[in-house]
Amino acid sequence: MIADKQLIVKHCMDKGVLPGADILSMDNLTLPDAFPHDIMVVTLDALSLIDEEHVDWLQLDRLRSYHEHGRSGYQEYIHLFSRKKAIPPAVHVQDDSPTALTVPSLYDKAGALYTVGDFVQHFKHRYTALERMLRIRPELQHSISVSRALRKQSREPVSIIGMVLDKSETKNGNLIITVEDPTGSIRVLLNKNHPDLFKSAKDLVLDEVIGISGVCGTKIIFANNLFLPDLPYTQELKKSSHDIYALFLSDVHVGSEYFLEKEFRRFLRWINGNTGTGEQKEIAKKVRYVFIAGDIVDGVGVYPRQEEELLIKDIYQQYKEFAALIAQIPPHIKVIICPGNHDALRLGEPQPILDREFAAPIYELNNVTIVSNPSLVNIHAQKDFSGFNILLYHGYSFDYLVANVDSIRGGGGYRRADLIMKFLLKRRHLAPAQGSTLRIPDPDTDPLVIDPVPDFFVTGHIHYSMVANYRNVTMISGSCWQRTTSFQEKLGHQPEPARVPVVNLKTRDVKILKFM
Ligand code: FE
Ligand code: ZN
Repeated sequence: MIADKQLIVKHCMDKGVLPGADILSMDNLTLPDAFPHDIMVVTLDALSLIDEEHVDWLQLDRLRSYHEHGRSGYQEYIHLFSRKKAIPPAVHVQDDSPTALTVPSLYDKAGALYTVGDFVQHFKHRYTALERMLRIRPELQHSISVSRALRKQSREPVSIIGMVLDKSETKNGNLIITVEDPTGSIRVLLNKNHPDLFKSAKDLVLDEVIGISGVCGTKIIFANNLFLPDLPYTQELKKSSHDIYALFLSDVHVGSEYFLEKEFRRFLRWINGNTGTGEQKEIAKKVRYVFIAGDIVDGVGVYPRQEEELLIKDIYQQYKEFAALIAQIPPHIKVIICPGNHDALRLGEPQPILDREFAAPIYELNNVTIVSNPSLVNIHAQKDFSGFNILLYHGYSFDYLVANVDSIRGGGGYRRADLIMKFLLKRRHLAPAQGSTLRIPDPDTDPLVIDPVPDFFVTGHIHYSMVANYRNVTMISGSCWQRTTSFQEKLGHQPEPARVPVVNLKTRDVKILKFM
């Protein structure tokens, strides 16, 4: 049915739905004869989802009204469904398939002197962003403010969303946490007799934002369930129609006397098609994107007595040497680089892009894009394909998590980047505990919140490569190009250098190539 404004209004009214403002402004519109049962307002977005099976229309309507008040969640929800439709037609494999690269999210603010007020605002942004993600869950839709929970009668059911302020064990071996929202704070008891609940409660870190449901006591909640922001189940495993590869390096550490130059040069020969088995050479031909997740040089003064282990003691010279190596990557390959804690920048996260003076020779390379740590990079978008979102984060917060989270430490620690990365994705934050990184308390935003959900989550820092999948997010931890240093030996690290995870973007298959 093609309709003008009055016909649209009439048709909608007849079917018991309200026309949204955007469809009234359309000159030309086709409306279905029937609408899903729960739909209230018909907008263009709603129309685009009308054939989808799993849309929660009440939820969509609610998110839309939030959206009109400047809150997020709505577009993300729409996106979940609309992305599924963007499956590109099969295209014949071409070795000269084009590359595409954008950086939707990059942090480029200079440092400043921050005040206590900035910290308060910064935490508010984090709370609001994560609270929205939690509130989408059916179990938390009726959650109330902490101040209201404090006024509830004993034994009344309750759910709240708050930030973990404090965590301790009681005499009886239960856990008690204090949870805070903008209206106040309340204690929550997590009983060891609920084994599943207790197990997830043990992993809680300070400052993370969680949902709790349970029953009220006097100024305390007895928890029955604990909710993390987590990833939706509906994330699609996107695939490109082009048979091409992206590969992932990190922790090159140029300048260190332990830098594995011979192995790195072997990698460069491979990517130029000059070494490897037939199959490996085929892959090399199809590489279009190379990511380097930080610690590109060893830096100076990063750890005690580092100068004794430096082959190149001058930071300018380190970057110059790195640039000379990267210049050997063929120019049709896009190289994306973020800094790490060894690079010559502030340690506070987010770290801005590499210093234009120290790292000048890298800026001269035409195929290199330098981004912040963290940042969100989109690759290979085509006319009919939205591309892959790659969340790039060096991984400085990992040390804290390995040391402080029982399930990670007990599960294999530094050898299990997959556990660490999954822990962060579930919390939708790159450094949930305040103590886990030096934080730049930007009063306008929290750039360490994981939003939107990426297709790839790429890190480095622990010098031990790992690839895994969590709810269709490919988690990749890069290896390194440095032998074990005395410092790492002291910390009990056992790196596994010169490994390169390569991902076929058409099949999403992952292989790890070894150059040592
Ligand atoms: Fe490193
Ligand atoms: Zn590092």
